[in-house]
Amino acid sequence: MRPVGPVGEVRNDADDVERLRGLVRVPTVSYADEGAVEASCFEEFLTLLAESFPLLHEQLTVHRVLDHSLLLHWKGEADGDPAVLMAHIDVVPIDESAPWQHPPFGAEIHDGAIWGRGTLDDKGSLVGICTAVERLLADDFVPARDVWLSFGAREEVSGPDAPAAVEELRSRGVTPWFVLDEGGAIAHQAFPGVQPPLGVIGVTEKGTTTLELRAEGRGGHSSTPAPGGPTARIARAVVRLEKRQFPASLPEPTLEMFTRIAPHAPLALRPLFTNARRLQPLLKRALLAAGPEPAALVRTTMAVTQLSGSPAHNVIASTATAAVNLRIMVGETVASATEHVRKAIADGSITLEPLDTNEPSPVSPTDDPAFELLTTTISELFDDAVPTPYVMMAGTDSRFFAAICPRVYRFTPFRMTRAQRESIHSYDEHIGVQDWLDGVRWYSRLIERIPE
Ligand SMILES: [Zn+2]
Repeated sequence: MRPVGPVGEVRNDADDVERLRGLVRVPTVSYADEGAVEASCFEEFLTLLAESFPLLHEQLTVHRVLDHSLLLHWKGEADGDPAVLMAHIDVVPIDESAPWQHPPFGAEIHDGAIWGRGTLDDKGSLVGICTAVERLLADDFVPARDVWLSFGAREEVSGPDAPAAVEELRSRGVTPWFVLDEGGAIAHQAFPGVQPPLGVIGVTEKGTTTLELRAEGRGGHSSTPAPGGPTARIARAVVRLEKRQFPASLPEPTLEMFTRIAPHAPLALRPLFTNARRLQPLLKRALLAAGPEPAALVRTTMAVTQLSGSPAHNVIASTATAAVNLRIMVGETVASATEHVRKAIADGSITLEPLDTNEPSPVSPTDDPAFELLTTTISELFDDAVPTPYVMMAGTDSRFFAAICPRVYRFTPFRMTRAQRESIHSYDEHIGVQDWLDGVRWYSRLIERIPE
């Protein structure tokens, strides 16, 4: 595909790869502490985006949302409810001690891949969507129905941008037909013993909450300790939590995932996967025993992430706290999970305070034309992959769109090895040049195939 740009410039794959590299080089790092954010980087990114995608910025209506987020409106042929394609501009900070093989904002090419923060999460998607749209515009293509692009600037810190974008759409009376955000991928080595890559499409995401457990006491000098002080009670609570894990359950998308991958599973596991619905108790036990990752598929998880006590080694704490981060299963709520924790610690002297709450997302349908559109486009572009729904463990901005749309899907059309998936939010993040170009074609085909 070699469409001609507005000034007679030939757009080709190599030029588009350069555009991605340029945008990866802009360190659009978001921090929970607003004061640490370099606003100029976000302005620079938006300016470079406009220069890189002139047709998109001319022919789509561009709305700024809050400071640095974008909502772009592409008018379609017919008046059907629109499709919304999402991605985010911001990236997580670099841990200076992490052993990156190549500079995190260098966008250097090594071994056929572009290395840098954001290549997978999520500038690869953002620039991929823009490239697909720009190429289609150059071909005078008009989508069958409206398409909105929603690019958030504070996804990584759960900022107010995505809720504001939803409000903006709501105020315009927009009720999306479907929403696609980052999430699953063409995941290689997704399951031990399963050869083909899985095209995993997130149809819901776990909820999250962090509970602060707090115990109080008299404190005092450490030479005269009394039993049952705040630190001892917090320690006992932590041990009790470890012993009383949440019960296991298999939500519908997970059961469907096992039945879909069954034909590709190792012979020994095939009967278990094929009959996942009937053999749920056995499958649950197997997953719980198979390690922390499979276990997280079937239950609400609890991790004690922060502990605090006295500020000095010779002072007894008058207050001790533990932060418990929970990832809540579909079918459960923040309230029911909190109740489980309260019962597990069985200590009325400890208070529980939620520091943040995100309920699990509604489950999007899989027997539906929008889901079909995703799976058939996956099969067309990645014919070795097995498309399947799954429950996402991480959170995305798309959860806010569930308020205005029942069909919210989370899929990133790039091949990713296990090592690549582990590099997200970590170090050595990189995307294969060809994998990115294949992803661009996937977005193009998806937009072309959007029905009336
Ligand atoms: Zn992301």
